Amino acid sequence: MSAIRLEVRPGRRWGSRNPFRVLVGALVSSRTRDRVTGEATARLLAIAPVPSVLARLPTGRIARAVYPAGFYRTKARHLKELAIILGEVHGGSVPRDGKSLRALPGVGPKVAALTMAEGHGIPAVCADIHVHRISNRLGLVRTRDPGQTQVALEKILPRKPWSGWNRLLVPFGQARCGSRPRCAGCPARRSCATGIKWGRMARRGAAGRKEGKT
Ligand code: SF4
Repeated sequence: MSAIRLEVRPGRRWGSRNPFRVLVGALVSSRTRDRVTGEATARLLAIAPVPSVLARLPTGRIARAVYPAGFYRTKARHLKELAIILGEVHGGSVPRDGKSLRALPGVGPKVAALTMAEGHGIPAVCADIHVHRISNRLGLVRTRDPGQTQVALEKILPRKPWSGWNRLLVPFGQARCGSRPRCAGCPARRSCATGIKWGRMARRGAAGRKEGKT
């Protein structure tokens, strides 16, 4: 973790400790680029800053606000239903526990964990594609999808840095360890299973080129 910190500063992905804003932003973000998510979420929250107002908006208006986020029509439906449930079941507040959050329309483990961590300040592992990919590359877990990664990381990481793991690995994935990792010069290379393999291959390649010259 400290090697990765050399490369990036941990970010606060949502920049807000307002659970409703975080929940809305996290829901809008799935399959959507960060820039589009930010703009779409801001548009929606400008017209519906609290659940009671969102619950009264027509679905079409919500869809227009979050367009062009991926699956914007489905998300609009979920957002309206979710706002109604927040009012009727949770007294207009966003629940603090994973089980109640995951029971809301459109809310899966990732959105629930983000809402807990960034909205309520409760430790939670939010495993998005960056966290999933890098945790596997480092050799910390061997999992097939982000859901499995979340469960596996919660077993091996101490509770305190759960939320920090996402804040650290998302910018690190964007800067260096994305779909094509740039292992050369990576500060985590010596403690990373993939980086160690990459180093061996690079040395073999260099030795082969040397032999070829003699
Ligand atoms: S060494 Fe490569 S795979 Fe490992 S963390 Fe760095 S960039 Fe990612």
